[in-house]
Formats: sequence, structure tokens, C-alpha cells
Amino acid sequence: MTLQTPDHDEAHGGGLGSRLNWLRAAVLGANDGVVSTAGLVVGVAGATDSRATLLTAGLAGLLAGSMSMAAGEYVSVSTQRDSEKAALALEKRELATEPQAELRELTELLEGKGLGPELAREVAEQLTHHDALRAHAEVELGIDPDDLTNPWHAAGASFLAFTAGALLPLLAIVLPPTGQRLWITVVAVLAALALCGWTSARLGAAPVGPAVLRNVAGGALAMAVTYVAGTLLGAVGV
Ligand SMILES: [Zn+2]
Repeated sequence: MTLQTPDHDEAHGGGLGSRLNWLRAAVLGANDGVVSTAGLVVGVAGATDSRATLLTAGLAGLLAGSMSMAAGEYVSVSTQRDSEKAALALEKRELATEPQAELRELTELLEGKGLGPELAREVAEQLTHHDALRAHAEVELGIDPDDLTNPWHAAGASFLAFTAGALLPLLAIVLPPTGQRLWITVVAVLAALALCGWTSARLGAAPVGPAVLRNVAGGALAMAVTYVAGTLLGAVGV
């Protein structure tokens, strides 16, 4: 097996890259919660002034969205973990049945990373002597065998991130008096989306301006579309 992952940090639970990935995922999850719940409550607000209806719709949207995010994350991380475990098991078998071929393979991989043939051979031998499976897992598969992502942690984090984001439009539409709730929600949502766009751009070292603009425009479009739909439905008395 020669499956090289260029970005090692992706797979290391304690590494800086991994922590940044978690943070980026949290911001995206919160952003999702803001946009989908804002679209939902603004749409319902186009049709009705009833605070109870707004609260019901917003809360249902929050729960449905956060559960769906958590379930999706659980499934995707479990699948990833299963394939990492399968790759490790295969590696373990290969190391047991053909250690010489595995040593050659590790040597070649290290040469591919820029070591000279003799040094690569020596490093491969020492790594194999120390912990052969770990060496192959890291160099060949790009994973840390002791630190595979836990699907429950990933699911919980998605749930919390989405919920945190969804609470903003929900509270902004439910708390203010009837005449004020719409503009307060729109302003709060657009500000939150600007912050999310700014943060994720900074975390990804991308230009901030376009990221903020795209994110704010996306949210504004979502609210405009659902508001028009809600108003039309409200007008015909559905
Ligand atoms: Zn191997």
C-alpha cells in the first residue's frame, strides 16, 4: 500500500493543524445554524406575527438541523475511522507476513521524502525496530494509530456548533416586540455571518474581504427568499 497523505497535520489529533480544522468545522457548523434558522424564522415571520408560532418553528428548525448535522458527522467520521482501521489491519498483516518488502517500501517512501538511499535505509530500519506499525501508519497512511477521530466527539461538536449558531436568529426573532423583530433579526444575522466569514477566512489564511462578502450575501439571499415566500403564503391565507 502506498497511500501518501501530504498534509500530516490533518490526521494528528493533538496537532495545531487538527485543532485549526476543528475550529474551522465549528465555525462552519455555527454558520449553518445561523443561515438555516434565520431563513426559517424570517420566512415564518413573513406569514405571521404570532410569537408562539415563531418560537415553535425556530425551535423545531434548531433541533432538526443540529440532529441532522450530528448524524451526518457521525456517519462520515465513522466511515473514515473504519477505513483507517482497515488500512492499519492490512498494514499489520503485511508487516507480519512480508517484513522485508515492508522495510523496502518504507525505505522508498523515505527516499521519496528527500532522504538519500543509505540514510533512508538506516532511518527505515530504526523506525521499524522501534515501532514498525506506527512508522508505516505515519509515513505511508498519514495517520496516528493511537489518535483516530472519535465519531461521537465529532457528532457532539457539530450539534453544539449548529445549536450555538441557530440560537442567535431564534432569540432575535422571538424576544423583540412585533414591529422591531424583523430588522433586529436581519441586522444580528448579517453581523454574525460577517464574523463567521471573517473568522473562517483568518483560520484558512484566505483573503478576508471576499469571504465576508460571500457569507453575508448568502445569508441575505436566504432570508430574502424565505421572507418573500412567507409573505406570499401569509397573504393568500395558507
Ligand atoms: Zn507498509
